[in-house]
Amino acid sequence: MQDQLLTRTKRLVVKIGSSLVTSRGEGLRLDHISSLTKDLTAVQAENREVVVVTSGAIVSGIDQLELKTYPHALPLKQAAAAVGQSRLMRAYEKSFEELGFKVAQILLTHQDLADRKRFLNARHTLTSLIRFGVIPIINENDTVSVDEIQFGDNDTLAAQVAHVVDADLLVILSDVAGLYTADPRQDPSATLIPVVKEITKDIEQRAGTSRTEESTGGMITKVQAAKQAAQFGVSTLIINGETPGLLPCVLNGEPSGTYFMPNYRRLQSRKQWIAFTLRPKGHLILDDGAVQALQHRGKSLLPSGILEVKGEFQPGDSVICADQHGEEFGKGLVNYSSHTLRYIKGQKTSEVLKMTGQQEYEEVIHRDNLVILS
Ligand code: GLU
Repeated sequence: MQDQLLTRTKRLVVKIGSSLVTSRGEGLRLDHISSLTKDLTAVQAENREVVVVTSGAIVSGIDQLELKTYPHALPLKQAAAAVGQSRLMRAYEKSFEELGFKVAQILLTHQDLADRKRFLNARHTLTSLIRFGVIPIINENDTVSVDEIQFGDNDTLAAQVAHVVDADLLVILSDVAGLYTADPRQDPSATLIPVVKEITKDIEQRAGTSRTEESTGGMITKVQAAKQAAQFGVSTLIINGETPGLLPCVLNGEPSGTYFMPNYRRLQSRKQWIAFTLRPKGHLILDDGAVQALQHRGKSLLPSGILEVKGEFQPGDSVICADQHGEEFGKGLVNYSSHTLRYIKGQKTSEVLKMTGQQEYEEVIHRDNLVILS
């Protein structure tokens, strides 16, 4: 079945890791960039739409600045990214143009997607580029990204981009051939897992924690990206990005790598954005009645059902809803700050009015702004 889903792919996001386009001490791997470009244009020429998410700015900048070691200080990393990004882009542009394809550079921060207006704007821009047959080349805007607005790694960024452009497939080109039963670099008996139907805790454990200095992620962030993509209704394929010609072959049905099935309970885009793009600022612990009403009866959350308020947040922020045992089951946008909620929690609507003298909203989280996750 997965080969049918793959061959029918119309729009795909391809994530290219740093080690595929750069080499420490030698800078950009121009030959390999050409080879990757050839594969990507072959896919685009088959009437599919390719969006690229690429890493490599920082490593390329390190080389250009002749730094001896990988920088850990943020300003230095950002300086390296600024120097490296333009070189990286120049290499892609040259390579794609030689094959007759146009490209556009897009640099994103998490904040660009956490604001619904900016999210929709990014979607419109990307869709327009795709309509013009231009291949968007996206990276995190490392130069201005600091902790709070950072995606942190490009696997996560690529999963979010797959949602923004409503892709059918996320392809993660890696320096390993897919997900193995154990880390193949440490355990020679490890075998490749060809299909993952659901990303369980066991699968996440198999991804381990191994990572190299140059790659911000490692297998675990790839599996987490696949999990996010699945929730967006997008399937993910992890294949070896070192093998020339592999990507077009796989999209024509040749089995390779690990294929992660999408989750078919696809939420509407706005709810996906609430559930998986926004970062929660706090937790609301609810009593059993409220849990039932939210989970099974399609109700909004009222102050009376709240037992405890954790974290600091403002109206419009997103929060996690959990039961008394801490089991998280939903996420939503609150109408009240954490400060006000601590004051009115557990109170009936009529009491809230008396206590506050005004009540802009009856609901703490309106149903339309609530996503039930389990
Ligand atoms: N944005 C970083 C870069 O271009 C890479 C982040 C990552 O590898 O996940 O260098």
